[in-house]
Amino acid sequence: MVSFRKIFQNILNFVYPPVCPLCNAPVSEHGVLCADCWTAVNWIDGPKCSCCGYPFIAGYDFDKDTLCPICASGKNELDWIRSACVYDDASKQIMLPFKHCGKIKYARFMANAMIWALRDIDTHNIDVVMPVPLAWRRLFHRGYNQASLLARPIAHAMGVGIDYDSVHRKYRQDMGHKTSAQRAKNIRGVFTVKNPDKIRGKHILLVDDVMTSGATFSELHRVLMQAGAASVSGVSFCRVVRAL
Ligand SMILES: [Zn+2]
Ligand SMILES: [Zn+2]
Repeated sequence: MVSFRKIFQNILNFVYPPVCPLCNAPVSEHGVLCADCWTAVNWIDGPKCSCCGYPFIAGYDFDKDTLCPICASGKNELDWIRSACVYDDASKQIMLPFKHCGKIKYARFMANAMIWALRDIDTHNIDVVMPVPLAWRRLFHRGYNQASLLARPIAHAMGVGIDYDSVHRKYRQDMGHKTSAQRAKNIRGVFTVKNPDKIRGKHILLVDDVMTSGATFSELHRVLMQAGAASVSGVSFCRVVRAL
């Protein structure tokens, strides 16, 4: 029997034929990249740190429980982190227009890639998805919080709600190309939990577009745990990968 959903999908595909959101080449379904654009991106699909998802050099036979030096030394406090791809020239062509030039149509395939990045994680205990908050001043200028656009399809796929407003973020100057230590110092104290009742006892999944040094996730982890969260984990579309 043909489902209503299938009929609707066929009509949608007829009116709006699915195209690659990056280059407009025809594709099989909405929300996917064409083969050329897909292969240009450095997806994290090889061995990685079982905790923070840091990609190891391919070709080595790592145990699935292997930790990177950061996680092995206990410096990463989040339950786990996953990212779909490496931040490089290819993913920059996605990230920068998405973040700064209103290319919000990219959100769908980016979120799909992030859901794919969680394939080795048991997400059943996640209670709520939280986009990394944006300061009001930045939200006003940009018109949207890019992390919220990614959080929606992820929360939908998990069947959980989204928390947009329990945490407030103060405006601070852009972090630019500062070191990890400077980033950590700059982000310290920018987040305030406004509604601890919504945080207490919750397993929270943070969502962001890019993870640079991990300082934003760490600081959110700190304030959320202080407010009584049960656990905090994170997922980003891409991540900066530096030699450890
Ligand atoms: Zn393409
Ligand atoms: Zn790690």
